[in-house]
Amino acid sequence: MTLSDVLAKFEPVIGLEVHVQLATNTKIFCGCPTSFGAEPNSNVCPVCLGLPGALPVLNRKAVDMAIEAALALNCTVNPKSIFARKNYFYPDLPKGYQISQYDQPLAEHGYVDIGGKRLGITRVHMEDDAGKSIHDGFKDSSKYSYVDLNRSGTPLIEIVTEPDMRSSDEAYAFLTELKQVLQYINVSTCDMEKGHLRCDANVSVRLRGAEKFGTKAEVKNLNSFRFLKMALDYEIGRQVELIESGGRVIQETRLYNNESGETVGMRSKEHAHDYRYFPEPDLIPLRISSQWIAQVRERMPELPASRRARFIEAYGLREYDAGVLTATRAMSDYFEETAKASGDPRAAANWVMGDLAGLLKGADIGESPVSAANLGRLVALIGEGKISGKLAKEILPKMFANGETADAIIEREGLAQISDEGALTKIIDEVIAANPKQVEQYKSGKTAVIGFLVGQAMKASRGQADPAAVNRILKEKLA
Ligand code: ADP
Ligand code: ZN
Ligand code: MG
Repeated sequence: MTLSDVLAKFEPVIGLEVHVQLATNTKIFCGCPTSFGAEPNSNVCPVCLGLPGALPVLNRKAVDMAIEAALALNCTVNPKSIFARKNYFYPDLPKGYQISQYDQPLAEHGYVDIGGKRLGITRVHMEDDAGKSIHDGFKDSSKYSYVDLNRSGTPLIEIVTEPDMRSSDEAYAFLTELKQVLQYINVSTCDMEKGHLRCDANVSVRLRGAEKFGTKAEVKNLNSFRFLKMALDYEIGRQVELIESGGRVIQETRLYNNESGETVGMRSKEHAHDYRYFPEPDLIPLRISSQWIAQVRERMPELPASRRARFIEAYGLREYDAGVLTATRAMSDYFEETAKASGDPRAAANWVMGDLAGLLKGADIGESPVSAANLGRLVALIGEGKISGKLAKEILPKMFANGETADAIIEREGLAQISDEGALTKIIDEVIAANPKQVEQYKSGKTAVIGFLVGQAMKASRGQADPAAVNRILKEKLA
């Protein structure tokens, strides 16, 4: 069965669990730095090493960021939430338990909109990260595994969605939107390669039209959005094949192997962990006042969905362009400032996405050496008829190279568009004198030849003549 045959008969149901590292400077329950790439086991203290008697102290900044994330995901922040111990044994978990939130999470009942569809968010809760087991790259790695506890105690939020997604594409779109929102509010870099965003996917299938959900499998080890999509498609196909051949899906955790492209069973329901959750006795309930929530809401920037809609509405951008120009907060700010300085938002959009993007790509840099104000001014100069669009295309790379303003370059190189009547008349008289044949043709009715004559005048002016004025004066002279 091909995937499209599968999807004609069966409907996938997907819910995601996403872990996001908060971009605090210090850990969630101690003052150790969260910096990446430090010497193993150097960013540690009795608290994050899990030494007996050490007491956790909640990082206010981490809570503040978690609240902001929850609000950005349209959740209700609970006035009281409870930290709980989630007990399991693993070498990179020195306390023997993770401090998480269980039946009273930080926030609940949110949603994210993707292309007209609303996907529910069940909850957002806070927890600490474990350390890292390292199996290779160190001395005698074939014999030993190593444990680095620098990451132990790094603040995370876990975002759990409702089983609302119906395809791998929707799951992909959800993650894309989630990442964009979290990056906009600067609560996380969401850098998957550094493990700042990790995602597990729950998948089941049911016959189209069926009401009851099928039994789900949880797929882990998804290292990129692309792998997530591929793993989901594989898993959907596997479950359908199993059902079609008379088998039953069992509830289990499966690992995605990105080399084979397959998911492999890891542990079934019977072997599921019993985490023996109980309230963390070393931390009091987390109480969040309505003033605190209001304060966070106050400082929140405009989010990407609203910005996209506004760019379309206020600047007349096409939907696709609005998407490109709101890809990051820096990009939207840059575009908006350029648009304002240019007096012509659509032209500004074309310059940002076209010539400027090309230069940035060519130089392989992310941040533009041309300020938004300067690019806007360049676009305004075209609008005012001071320079032609063609000339602007030559000026921009110079601005890009040395950060100069368009005005300075035009002044220094004498590039301003010639719209002075006298200067233009002089050029045109010369062109008429030099091209008697074409002038004759024009006068005998072959008016299309005007294009050639305008071209000659433009050439004679090194592209600086105002083409509209040239056209007009030529016609007057030849009439
Ligand atoms: P569990 O009890 O196994 O933790 P939950 O009901 O808490 O399951 O859900 C965990 C995740 O699995 C959520 O993201 C949820 O949306 C998703 N999920 C739940 N049931 C299904 C299902 N039948 N198919 C797909 N995903 C599901
Ligand atoms: Zn510490
Ligand atoms: Mg659950």
